[in-house]
Amino acid sequence: MPKGPTLPGTGLSDLGDIFKRLRVFGSLACGQSFRWPVSSTLLAKRSKYLYHVMFDIDGTLVQSYGFDADCFTKAIKEVLDIKIDDNWSSYEHVTDNGILNEVIQTNGLDSKKVEIQREVKSSFIRRLREHLKIEPAHEVPGAASFLARLQALNNVSISIATGGWYESAVLKLQSAGISIHNIPVASSDDHYSRTKIMKIAEERANNNTGISNTYFGDEVWDKKACQELGYNFVLVGNSVPHDQSIVNFNSTNKAMTYIGL
Ligand SMILES: [Mg+2]
Repeated sequence: MPKGPTLPGTGLSDLGDIFKRLRVFGSLACGQSFRWPVSSTLLAKRSKYLYHVMFDIDGTLVQSYGFDADCFTKAIKEVLDIKIDDNWSSYEHVTDNGILNEVIQTNGLDSKKVEIQREVKSSFIRRLREHLKIEPAHEVPGAASFLARLQALNNVSISIATGGWYESAVLKLQSAGISIHNIPVASSDDHYSRTKIMKIAEERANNNTGISNTYFGDEVWDKKACQELGYNFVLVGNSVPHDQSIVNFNSTNKAMTYIGL
């Protein structure tokens, strides 16, 4: 049935609409619950985000795994004259601060902790900067455009959670041509625990309003952290057996499907 003109000042088109509204108010007044019929598109727009997608950096967005670890071990050797175990999964917290804290504790250097942290970080950043000047980093194929594609969606929020220090994260991402404009980043400067870093990234991105959390990572500790937090884990590469994996972000459709999009 064709609708009549809108009644001035009401936004309602006819008396039928007014009676419908009155029934709604009546049901509310009687304490009955009422849900407006809302289309899924409108709901997606109204709810701030439905999907939150988080990314690791090393080996996930940037092909930095080798030189990053090399700069880190050399920085510790320079400051402490100790050659550390580079079997990273043997450390309780596989983050820059987590590993360094464990090295400090194991070697009975707690009294100099703050000084050591400052010196190792400074040496590490200097080495990283020098390395990237000679040999710029490369993105994991498709990473920058995948981030841009997700950013364009109004029902998706994204963030970055890295076990590295913030300054190193920015250097590596910039070198690889990945923009972090409007993307919240949580790092080892925020916490030594990976799961805590991930929760901080989630809060910064969403204020916890995201309904589902998906994390793209490349290592066993990423998978473990996701299991602890109940995040949907997508493996980039093949370093650990996992049922959801992509070789890189050129597998766009597969990656989107794993997110639920
Ligand atoms: Mg990684």
